[in-house]
Amino acid sequence: MTQHFIVIGNPIAHSKSPEIHTLFSEQAGIDISYQRQYCPDDAASFMAVIEAFFQGGGVGANVTVPFKQVAYNCCLARGGLSEHAKVAGAANTLSLNQTLLDSGTPIAEAIYGDNTDGQGLVNHITSLDWPLTGARVALIGAGGAARGVVLPLIQAGISSLTIANRTVSKAVNLVTGLSESSETIDKHSIETCATSELTGQFDIIINATSIGLSGDTLPLNDDLDCHYAYDMMYGRTLPFLQHFVTRGAQTSDGYGMLIGQAALSFERWTGYNIDVATATDALINR
Ligand code: NDP
Repeated sequence: MTQHFIVIGNPIAHSKSPEIHTLFSEQAGIDISYQRQYCPDDAASFMAVIEAFFQGGGVGANVTVPFKQVAYNCCLARGGLSEHAKVAGAANTLSLNQTLLDSGTPIAEAIYGDNTDGQGLVNHITSLDWPLTGARVALIGAGGAARGVVLPLIQAGISSLTIANRTVSKAVNLVTGLSESSETIDKHSIETCATSELTGQFDIIINATSIGLSGDTLPLNDDLDCHYAYDMMYGRTLPFLQHFVTRGAQTSDGYGMLIGQAALSFERWTGYNIDVATATDALINR
């Protein structure tokens, strides 16, 4: 029997998720339908679409911009949240909470949220053989993407974390919020600064800003250096990565993170473990 999935967002036409999940289903030998779902940009519309999807027999939904926080609020009030979604304050993977369903909870009250973005990044970095254990990491950006990766990075065993942002107060607030939502995160162990003031040698620097969309460049200090530079964006020329290529660093864009988070969603929904390296090769060759 065909299992139904969607990715819900606004805009949504650009989403690569249907292509990625269809390839996963071929690898798994599972019959699925995975559709892009446009939704007007308001919480009530989101709730109506999601409820209709699960009432209609849908198995899983991915959530993308601008609905990840709305999805978090929905699940907080209904079927619950994974630790990663709680700490991220955002959910990108929705399913039904079987325990609640078994106890008679109506479908619309049993929608459960997870967040696979951060672990997708960690899995991709690990697959690149960039050492995370003991790594000194700088994270540039303090929006939703940055928030989602902090707990998985700490759980991966990094030795230090500095969060830099154009608006320093947002980085400070991010650290405070993270430490309040997880005992694993100690706010005193995470440094914050303005992006232009980020200096010194790091093992890994991760760009979690959306600056790549604008074509602008980050104000990177001349004294800033790293062995590995990662940009969460993909599908375009990224000045952040070019900057560190000229300094001899290894670099990667965020396409592998996209596939990594998708693979974790697929695994949560179907129980099938994806061979991400094989899937990535196949997607690049398509
Ligand atoms: P948000 O809008 O929540 O945050 C944007 C961040 O970028 C803020 O820190 C903001 O700084 C900073 N920023 C934006 N414009 C500039 C600028 N001109 N100069 C300096 N800093 C700037 O976005 P998200 O956190 O949701 O997403 C960030 C990026 O991560 C996006 O490009 C997105 O595509 C990517 N992403 C990739 C994923 C993947 O799977 N590869 C998954 C999720 C996200 P300030 O606070 O000062 O405004």
